[in-house]
Amino acid sequence: MKVDRKKCVGCANCVPVCPMEAVYIGPDGSAEINQEACVECYTCHRGLSVENLPPWPVRFIRRLLAAMNLRFQPEPDICPTGALAPDELSWPRIVRRAFSDPQVPHESTGLQGRGTAEVKTNDLTNRIKEGETGFVVELGRPGVGVYFREVDRVTRTLAEKGMVFEKENPVTSLMTDPGGGCIREDVLEEKVLSCIIETKIRLNRVPEMLGVIKKLAPSLNTVVSIGLSTRCNDNGDDPLKEILHREGYHVFRAKINLGLGRQTNPLSETKEKKL
Ligand code: SF4
Ligand code: SF4
Repeated sequence: MKVDRKKCVGCANCVPVCPMEAVYIGPDGSAEINQEACVECYTCHRGLSVENLPPWPVRFIRRLLAAMNLRFQPEPDICPTGALAPDELSWPRIVRRAFSDPQVPHESTGLQGRGTAEVKTNDLTNRIKEGETGFVVELGRPGVGVYFREVDRVTRTLAEKGMVFEKENPVTSLMTDPGGGCIREDVLEEKVLSCIIETKIRLNRVPEMLGVIKKLAPSLNTVVSIGLSTRCNDNGDDPLKEILHREGYHVFRAKINLGLGRQTNPLSETKEKKL
């Protein structure tokens, strides 16, 4: 994102809107964007309405009133002159937007946001089978973000432990060697709001892998969240609960997928109908 300094009147409305604290008012009184901190989430551009007022009368009125210790301030949700200007993004910077702007679908999955369906579509995909658990590691958050060099450290560590990465996942699509968890070098210095690494393991490996992440997390320059998912048995009980209790975690179910999207017709039948 850039600021068109010819248009900006320095009202500072865009400063608190940025989730990465990348916008500030520079010495010349107009907004500036710290390009290293900006993750191209477009929140500033999308979140503020634009009035397209001509800049010079707005500046003139603001200066005149300032001289009288008065202030002319537009409504807080408006950029009065439409000064925020999206950049033409090229590779590798475009990766920032793909992972940070929830309105842009990932090329690898066609999904918006972090670009993963995780376990939400498990009844159709059967990705997580009985005896397995979906193990996702989320890195970064608004206000913190994450560089891919940190993501690379996590994926390599997981790969060393024999974890296999979900193919339909945007982070996996950036790997040159998914077996080794290696993220392509040209994106390592790119920063995004957050991303999700997706794997699955046998239930009996949950304590070990939680230990691996717990050990690694303090050395990462970001925040780490772990998401676990599993299939309930016929009584509605989930086998993860006991394992996590034993590991000393307080467990409650965060999300339940009821399976309403279950495929009820045999796939062959569905294909025939389409033909
Ligand atoms: S909201 Fe628009 S005019 Fe106000 S400081 Fe930001 S870019 Fe400049
Ligand atoms: S694009 Fe996002 S990160 Fe960049 S300045 Fe705008 S709100 Fe901040």
